[in-house]
Amino acid sequence: MAQPITVIAKNFINLLYPIHCAACRSAIDPMTRTGLCNICETKIKRNPKPYCPSCGRSVTSVDDICEECKITRFAFDRAWSACLYEGVLKELIQQFKYKGKLSLSSVLCDTMTGFIKDNKNIIEGTDLITFVPLYNDWLNEREYNQSGILASAISREFMIPIVKPLEKSARTKRQNELPRAERLTNLTGVFKVRDKGSLNGSSILLVDDVMTTGATLSECAKALKEAGAKEVRCITLARGM
Ligand SMILES: [Zn+2]
Ligand SMILES: [Zn+2]
Repeated sequence: MAQPITVIAKNFINLLYPIHCAACRSAIDPMTRTGLCNICETKIKRNPKPYCPSCGRSVTSVDDICEECKITRFAFDRAWSACLYEGVLKELIQQFKYKGKLSLSSVLCDTMTGFIKDNKNIIEGTDLITFVPLYNDWLNEREYNQSGILASAISREFMIPIVKPLEKSARTKRQNELPRAERLTNLTGVFKVRDKGSLNGSSILLVDDVMTTGATLSECAKALKEAGAKEVRCITLARGM
């Protein structure tokens, strides 16, 4: 039997322009939406339940506050992370963030929105969605904010408006390059809301790509609350330990 024209066309395109899995570089079907092979897609490690009811870290029993949260007070109300920042996902986030691989946005955004669909309490009652800003110069060099892309996907999927009230007023050292004590002070006072009072009484979902100590999210949440937000919940794609 003759092959349908779409199959012939697809094989022809494949021959001319072979595309490769963003993680392992093996050849993949050019029609694949995610930019990942099937094997790598299954290697993305989910953050295993149950979660610390404060910071979203994986803990051993339900309602267990993690060791970190017993000594730290965050300005946000609660945080969740969809996956663990390791292996394939770590590689993908780094390519997305630092190497301009925007083709990865669909797999990363789908992972994020899929997690929220499975955990509806993250989004219930949310009035506005926002994201962690980059320092302006840095944004211009790279021309996009990975957290903004994730936040836009959530906004579209759940039909909740996205706003950008936060500004980062100084360039800071990368959090992951600093010892713990410095991470907690590196960001003090760096995030600001320009239009004070603009968020009066609203419940906000704050989006970022990776959470490590929680200092960035906490500083942003503090600024949002000072500007009138009633509640700030946080969601990140990945959790680093
Ligand atoms: Zn692969
Ligand atoms: Zn915790």
